[in-house]
Amino acid sequence: MIIDGKAVADGIRAELLARTARFFQIAGRKPALAVVLIGNDPASEIYVRNKLRACAEAGIRSVDVRMPAEVSTQEATEAVRRLAADGEIDGILVQLPLPKHLDPRVILAEIPAEKDVDGFSEENIGALALGREGTVACTPLGVMELLKRYRIPTSGKHAVVVGRSNIVGKPMALLLLNADATVTVCHSHTRGLKEICLQADILVAAAGKPKLITADMVKEGAVVIDVGTNREGGKLCGDVDFGEVEKKASYITPVPGGVGPMTVAMLLSNVCAAAEKRIR
Ligand code: NAD
Repeated sequence: MIIDGKAVADGIRAELLARTARFFQIAGRKPALAVVLIGNDPASEIYVRNKLRACAEAGIRSVDVRMPAEVSTQEATEAVRRLAADGEIDGILVQLPLPKHLDPRVILAEIPAEKDVDGFSEENIGALALGREGTVACTPLGVMELLKRYRIPTSGKHAVVVGRSNIVGKPMALLLLNADATVTVCHSHTRGLKEICLQADILVAAAGKPKLITADMVKEGAVVIDVGTNREGGKLCGDVDFGEVEKKASYITPVPGGVGPMTVAMLLSNVCAAAEKRIR
């Protein structure tokens, strides 16, 4: 079965519209997200535009903060600090990657955990590692939501996550672990990737390598989640050789239309949750 991330995300976004309307009734204002874009990376421009549009459609006010590529770490830090102190801003997102001369750790550290709707802060990652409540990174959270909505069990299953980045692979592995899966994390130094993947009941590919996961690496009936977003000859593709793997998988996410739309839906959901917590 092909997992329709677009349909699930559309459903969540419709639910959010009701949630933001309720928030407006109570707080007298919309939930608000500040999006900081530094420089003019074309891919980042597209991501930011999509996020701003999605906010508007969900009844979330967005504040579009643009800074030139030449800005100093101190200037960027001060801009984020101002947003952190602004009582009318519920969430802050700094679009990555930053221009090379800027230190993302210093700038992101200015986002307080309660406004960290990307779930990248040490406090939120710590909470996830400890299995406590916190804000979780949008992409892995979107994967968990897809598993939940398709009623795919995780308890006792062997989940293999390919990729160990701080924004996808690691939080994904922690979420699956917290959901009682037995988790193996693979990365660029892993030996015997094929043999490990063949053991997966749930295989999450998040390496950013087109067609890394081929049919001979997938167990019959496995659930295959493709997080990869790669461009090949101008076309968007994932990390999974979809055409062949689809024949073996019980469930599979396509690219586009799988995990991607869920990331934006989870961002909106994290903004709503952050806003609701602030007025509680
Ligand atoms: P990253 O480059 O930070 O991390 C990639 C990880 O994959 C690393 O841990 C690396 O060790 C591992 N890896 C690379 N080559 C490998 C190989 N041959 N075998 C095993 N492991 C290997 O990337 P990221 O930010 O984690 O993103 C991963 C992919 O997910 C990218 O394609 C990215 O565009 C995509 N992504 C999609 C969304 C979405 O919304 N759909 C969101 C974030 C990232």
